[in-house]
Amino acid sequence: MNPRYDVAIIGAGPGGTTTASYLAQAGARVLLLDKAEFPRDKTCGDALSPNALRILGDLGLLAELKNFGFRLNGVRLVAPDGSDLVAAIPQKPGLADHLYIAPRFQLDNLLLQHAIASGAEFKPAFRVTDVQVEKRQVSIVGKNRNSASQFSARVAVIAVGASISLLERVGLTSTPPKFALAARAYYDDLPRLDDLLEIRFDGVPLPGYGWIFPTSATSANVGAGFMKKSPNLPSTARAVLDQFLSHHPIKEKLSTGQRAGPIKSYPLRMDFATAQTFGERIVLVGEAAGLVNPFTGEGIDYAMESGQIAAGVLTRQLESGDFSLSTLRIYDKKLRARFHSLFVWTMRMRNLYMNEWLLTPLIRAANRERTVEKTILEVLLAYRNAIQALAPNTIFHVLRNWA
Ligand SMILES: Cc1cc2nc3c(=O)[nH]c(=O)nc-3n(C[C@H](O)[C@H](O)[C@H](O)COP(=O)(O)OP(=O)(O)OC[C@H]3O[C@@H](n4cnc5c(N)ncnc54)[C@H](O)[C@@H]3O)c2cc1C
Repeated sequence: MNPRYDVAIIGAGPGGTTTASYLAQAGARVLLLDKAEFPRDKTCGDALSPNALRILGDLGLLAELKNFGFRLNGVRLVAPDGSDLVAAIPQKPGLADHLYIAPRFQLDNLLLQHAIASGAEFKPAFRVTDVQVEKRQVSIVGKNRNSASQFSARVAVIAVGASISLLERVGLTSTPPKFALAARAYYDDLPRLDDLLEIRFDGVPLPGYGWIFPTSATSANVGAGFMKKSPNLPSTARAVLDQFLSHHPIKEKLSTGQRAGPIKSYPLRMDFATAQTFGERIVLVGEAAGLVNPFTGEGIDYAMESGQIAAGVLTRQLESGDFSLSTLRIYDKKLRARFHSLFVWTMRMRNLYMNEWLLTPLIRAANRERTVEKTILEVLLAYRNAIQALAPNTIFHVLRNWA
C-alpha cells in the first residue's frame, strides 16, 4: 500500500513551514506536525535579516509581515568598554537594506497559515516520538494529546529546532552538541528608541552578547546569550540576562519600561559544521541541522533557506522515487556548498574576537576605518565569509587600535 503522504514534516517553526510551503506548491502531499497548538510563542530575539526577508518575499509574505513587524535601518554595536559603532545596513544586490523585528508568536503563525494555504495538512498538539524507517516508507509515531497515533509518508523532514531527543532516537546525533544559552523578555513603555538593532558586548560574559531589539518605537525584545566556556561563568541564561539588566547603561535605558510577560530562555545549536543533515529517508532542516550563526545566534533565515533547499531536492526525488542515501546526500552537498565554510570561519572569528581584549579595538577600528566597518557588518550579515575578519589587513587595524 502506498503511504498516505509524500512528505511528513516534524516541527512547524520557520524551517518546517518553509519546507512545507515549497513542497506543497510543487504538488507534494505534505503532512506538517507540531507538538504545540498554534499560534505559539518561540523564545527568540525576533530579528529577521535581509536574507530572511528575501525568502519571505519569495513566499509573498512581506506585505503581511509589515502589519506586525518593526523595521530597523541600522545596527549599533557596543564594545565591552561602552564605546559604540552605529552603521547603516550595507547594500547588497537583491537584498533589503533594512531588517525587521517580528515577534515569533505572529511570524510563525503567518508562515504556518501560508503552508496550509499552499496545501499542507497541519496537525497540532502531535508530539513525534519516533520515525521508523521501512523499505518503502517512514512511519511517524507519536502522541496526539494522550492518544498514540501514527502516519506514513515516503520521506520525513525533521525540523524540531534545538530539541535533540528525536534526533537521538533516530540516531542522527552522534555526540551531544554544545549549546549556547539565551534568554529574553519583552519590554513596553520605553523612552523613544532608535531604529537600530542594538548588540551589546558590555555587561555580559564573553563569548556572548546582550541585545535590545525594538519591536516598536517604545517597546523591545531584550535579551542575552552566551557560550558557557568556563565553570566560573553563570550556569543559566536567566542569570546572564539578570546581569545584563542590572548593568548600569541598560538599567537606565529600561528604567521607565515595564516588563511585558515572563523571562524565557532556550538553548541554541550552532554545530552545523559537524552535524549530520540526513539519514535513510530523512532530512534535517534548520536548527535540527545545527544551522544557527555561531557569532550572531541568528537561525531564522538559515532555517528558511535550508527548507527551501530541502524542498527543491525532495521535489526531484519524489518525481524519481529514488530516496537512496546517495541521492539524499545531494541535500547535504548543497547545504555544505552554501554554509560550511561560513560556519567554520564564523566559529573561528568568534573564538578570536569575542573577548574583552579584541572586541573594543575591533569596534574602535570599525569606527575609524570604513573598510573595517564594512567588513564587520557584511560578516555579521553573512554577506562575506568571516575569513575576511581574520585577514591581515583587518587584524592590522585592530592591533593599531589596541591601546
Ligand atoms: C533567546 C534566543 C534568541 C534568538 N534570537 C534570534 C534572532 O533574533 N534572529 C534569528 O534569526 N534567530 C534567533 N534565534 C534562533 C532561532 O530562534 C532558531 O534558530 C529558529 O527558530 C530555528 O527555526 P527551526 O524551524 O529550525 O526550529 P524552531 O523554530 O525551534 O521550531 C521547531 C518546532 O518543532 C516543534 N517540535 C519540537 N520537537 C517536536 C516533536 N518531537 N514533535 C513535534 N513537534 C516538535 C516545536 O514545537 C517547534 O514549533 C534565537 C534563539 C534563542 C533561543
